[in-house]
Amino acid sequence: MSKENQHFEISKHKDYLYVIKENISLVHPVYTNDPLNIYLILGSHTALLLDTGCGLSPLKPLIDNLVGKKKLLVFNTHYHWDHPLGNAEFGEVYIHEDEVDLVSKPYDVSFLKDSPNEIVKIYAEKDFLIPPAKLIKSLKDGDIFDIGEIEVKVMHCPGHSPGSICLLTSNGELFTSDVAYYGDQFLPNRNKFSQVLNSLLKLINLCEKQKIGELYPSHRNYPCDMTLLTDLYKGIKNIENLWDHKKSFDFFEAWLIDDESGKFRFFISKT
Ligand SMILES: [Zn+2]
Repeated sequence: MSKENQHFEISKHKDYLYVIKENISLVHPVYTNDPLNIYLILGSHTALLLDTGCGLSPLKPLIDNLVGKKKLLVFNTHYHWDHPLGNAEFGEVYIHEDEVDLVSKPYDVSFLKDSPNEIVKIYAEKDFLIPPAKLIKSLKDGDIFDIGEIEVKVMHCPGHSPGSICLLTSNGELFTSDVAYYGDQFLPNRNKFSQVLNSLLKLINLCEKQKIGELYPSHRNYPCDMTLLTDLYKGIKNIENLWDHKKSFDFFEAWLIDDESGKFRFFISKT
């Protein structure tokens, strides 16, 4: 087995959908949302890779092997470190227009310097500055990509980050990125909760209207159904009732609140 196959776990979920899993707790035990799910959608003439992961092990050879002679498009769901650090391996990468600047320069991961895990040496060798892709292109809400027999629509869903996107395919799959998954949630400051809730409502309405029942989050279990969105919406709404129970969590400069359902832990940015 090759080295990259030991680092990534590849599974074929459908004829045209692969999931490449990477454990982010390898980097620092404070990250509990294993695995990170990198998705590869194969259209008849083009393939779409959704995220490039933590940049710890070569990803491109694995992807090239699955994509063959098709054209490859690479998207980042958003700029947070666990999603774009493999970008430099690929010539050009798309991200929402609000986050183009953030991934166009070397990515500073010095906040991971004190990790007890040995794998962080890989970042140390690069002085904790991970190079970007040569060319970053911008996406906006409503953009549609025809990858051959499948159309992929970009939905801007800000909240988790300013430029978070979700993808809807013409086959009825909704890729929810870090906008919705079960596990530790990273939320912006309370004054931006309405943005998070609006994005979730937009997805809930879409699922109801178009009878979307297959949700593919960028962390942990997949596929989920729409309950993920309603569970998360309720959980975030309930934070105000639990506010007095918050604890400080210094690594993330956040407040931590345990959701009563046990399905989420909320890290809420103090700034
Ligand atoms: Zn993430």
